[in-house]
Amino acid sequence: MDLKDIRKDVEQTVIDVRTAGLLFDEELTAIRNSLAQRASQQASLRTADEAGNMAVMQLNQGDMDGGMASLSGAMGLADLSVANFQDTMLARALLAAMDTIDCCKMSESNSPETERELHDALRAHRDGLPGAREKAIALLNKCVKIYREELVALQSVLQTKQIFVQNMKAQGVDVFNAERFLRRASDALAQKSCRDATEYLAKAEKSAVESRQAWLEQVRGQLPQVEATVKEAKSLGADVSEAERLIEQAKVALESSDYSLCAELVKRGEQKAIEAQRAQVQKAEELRRRQLQAAQESLVTSTQMATEARAYNIEGWQNLDMKIREAQEALMRSDAFGATTAAKEAENLARQMQQAIEEGRKGADALQVQYTGPCPRCNQMAVKALQTGFGRCASCGFVYPFQYQQPQKQEKRGFGIFGKR
Ligand SMILES: [Zn+2]
Repeated sequence: MDLKDIRKDVEQTVIDVRTAGLLFDEELTAIRNSLAQRASQQASLRTADEAGNMAVMQLNQGDMDGGMASLSGAMGLADLSVANFQDTMLARALLAAMDTIDCCKMSESNSPETERELHDALRAHRDGLPGAREKAIALLNKCVKIYREELVALQSVLQTKQIFVQNMKAQGVDVFNAERFLRRASDALAQKSCRDATEYLAKAEKSAVESRQAWLEQVRGQLPQVEATVKEAKSLGADVSEAERLIEQAKVALESSDYSLCAELVKRGEQKAIEAQRAQVQKAEELRRRQLQAAQESLVTSTQMATEARAYNIEGWQNLDMKIREAQEALMRSDAFGATTAAKEAENLARQMQQAIEEGRKGADALQVQYTGPCPRCNQMAVKALQTGFGRCASCGFVYPFQYQQPQKQEKRGFGIFGKR
């Protein structure tokens, strides 16, 4: 494209704009600046009002000369003030119209025709053309209508966005900021500020889209995470078939871009995996509890055999005793594996002493001292004291550490022939 073509383009644009009755952007900028300057000036009828009051006072006091001079001055001031006032109001009206037509894009009345009317009024005002004021007033009235339509349209946009955000919230999207901006937009509409409402609606939209994006990434990221949980539960031996089924469905949902279904399935899959894992952990816990109980029961028998082995002076009772202690310590720590292992070993050691113990029982009579007492287990008067420092019940076979003390000599003195009973 050479310069000649560019010039042709520019010329064509100039023609287009002119035939459309529109102003160029630079013209608009210049008009806006000049209007802004004019609009910012004080607009007051006070000086004329004051001069008028002064004239009335002078006339009442009979000062006709001064009064008439003041009246003449007041009328001159009034013309000036009113003209100034009108100029400023007109500038403010045209600026407001520019802003309204600029920002109220949803209003149906804000058509290309309106833009032409705006440019027409602006040009007439700038060039001091006849009918400039009437055009400005007609435009102002139209802009009031445009603004009201925009408020209604914004209200409807707000409602749509509220439903949109509510739906996202129901899906689990964090819409805290979007909701905050929507509340501000609603407040702005209550204050009839299209500008603020538009700004907050845009912010709400942006925030909602970002939140949704973050949520989508989260949903996508959750899948591998939950899959890992399922794998872990499976490695513990948990039944994760239900969880796996849900995860497979979630993958299909993700592929077909059904994100809320995917999120729901992932959530349920994770729940199922955790439930399966918990059931598995409970099973393991139950097993552990049973192991501890079995070890404890086994130790009761082994301990009795160790006591008997000691009572009958059977070789190796120390080893058995040590193993039993090891098992008991493991039990205190709730160490099911340690307790089970030590208790089994103690059981084996005790079994190896079984015959010796049985022999020991038979030979127990030889170890007896002259004593018979009550058994702490079965209450029969059947306990015989052994010389090894143990007592053995002839009725139930219970053996326990028991130190028999020789009766003291004073008892031998007795009372009478039969002695003390
Ligand atoms: Zn007994």
